[in-house]
Amino acid sequence: MKLIFEKSIKGRVGYSLPADRIEEIRVEDCIPPYARGRKKDLIEASEVDVVRHFTQLSKFNYGIEDGLYPLGSCTMKYNPKVNEHLAGLGNFANAHPFAPADTVQGCLKLMHDLSVLLCRITGMDAYTLAPAAGAHGELAGILIIRKYFEDRGEQRSKMLVPDSAHGTNPASSAMAGFKVVELKSNKSGTVDIGELERLMDEDTAGMMLTNPNTVGLFDGRIDEIAKIVHGKGGLLYYDGANLNATLGILRPGDTGFDIVHLNLHKTFATPHGGGGPGAGPVGVKKFLSPYLPSPVVVFNGENYRLRDPGEKSIGMMRAFWSNFSVLIKAYAWILSLGGKGLREVSEASVINANYVLVKLKDYYRPSYDRFCAHECVLTGRDYKKLGVKTMDIAKRLMDYGYYPPTIYFPHFKPYAEETMMVEPCESEGKEVLDDFIAVMIKISEEARSNPELLRDAPHRTRIRRTDDVLAIRRPILHYDDELRLKDELNYRPEDINF
Ligand SMILES: *Cc1c(COP(=O)(O)O)cnc(C)c1O
Repeated sequence: MKLIFEKSIKGRVGYSLPADRIEEIRVEDCIPPYARGRKKDLIEASEVDVVRHFTQLSKFNYGIEDGLYPLGSCTMKYNPKVNEHLAGLGNFANAHPFAPADTVQGCLKLMHDLSVLLCRITGMDAYTLAPAAGAHGELAGILIIRKYFEDRGEQRSKMLVPDSAHGTNPASSAMAGFKVVELKSNKSGTVDIGELERLMDEDTAGMMLTNPNTVGLFDGRIDEIAKIVHGKGGLLYYDGANLNATLGILRPGDTGFDIVHLNLHKTFATPHGGGGPGAGPVGVKKFLSPYLPSPVVVFNGENYRLRDPGEKSIGMMRAFWSNFSVLIKAYAWILSLGGKGLREVSEASVINANYVLVKLKDYYRPSYDRFCAHECVLTGRDYKKLGVKTMDIAKRLMDYGYYPPTIYFPHFKPYAEETMMVEPCESEGKEVLDDFIAVMIKISEEARSNPELLRDAPHRTRIRRTDDVLAIRRPILHYDDELRLKDELNYRPEDINF
């Protein structure tokens, strides 16, 4: 398929206007000066050319509306359409961030009520809805921790992060100025209490933790962990990007956590992937609320207002107030399910993951045998000696029309070998899981009988096996890069035809 730039035909337009009534302006004059050098990139095409181009492209894609998307740790669940409808209502969609508070009381009420609901769901006392993603929420949260200690005149330079943590945890801690200290997991993949006792000291600001952790294991010793961290004056941060196992069952605020971020674009069913938009609200216990970013929504019994939390605030995390449309969808999702429904979400997601685990554990031996939470970790280690890697199994799944699970994560012991992390989510029915399970079993048979077939899979997709190293080393981020690289790469775009 050609790039849209290559489909451009000189003089072709995508509009028609009454020439006698509208003054003609040169396109060049509409381009801001800093972008004028790129004028050559403007596409000349008709409306039907453009619509067809992007419709075709969208069909090459795979999304949650095509089928199961078992990408562990990413919570790719189905996003009900009623939420989209509500977010698209004119009074929401057309509200301007600078509109006077009196004219957008409904929007502010929604933000306020969503904060209250998130407090109830997580057991926290106050929320900011500003952060635009999980990692952005982590950064806000860690900056809050830093400000808290600065305010108390305490110098603390380190942050504890378990080796099972999502990669964004050490990154956020480092960005907020902390030295990251890795905490090794014990043999069963949870926090090693002895290690924690040894490493937690008065120079450590706290610990970032996920429970159930990133490999879907619940750490039952959370009380002990909280006691050790708090005992040295530290704070306990909960990475709640993935609350899919605990909604209505366990609240981080009740188990000793001081601060938590959520990913509305995972657990709370707002669409994600492909770069956004997301929302990563941060909830805190009361003693941390003065440090929340600006602004916060307050209600005085009569009116809703946006207010700066005061001089202790870490300041603004972004322009304007939030990715507001994401908040609407999450709010609608919560209200459509109710408390009981939220609990059922977690029960179903845990049952679904354990169903897959039990059905596949004889074919893709897990590192050890125990129940999981909302996702299960299988391995392809038995096929390694046949020359088949987990990467090959994942690629072969694409031939059967599935999005592959997360692979080679977790990468810490005892999981280290050939892992694949499957998160089915609550929105899948039994027949979908049964089909996926049957395909996985079929692939395990292929790995034994015809390993060659897997080694260069996929065979039926539009793009065959890609060169992952080249894709990372030489990403094509702009059409100009593509032009520049044309001579260096094996193929030119026009060579790639199907
Ligand atoms: C996805 C995820 C994050 C990061 O969230 P983004 O919105 O992608 O920045 C952080 N922690 C965990 C456990 C996650 O699963």
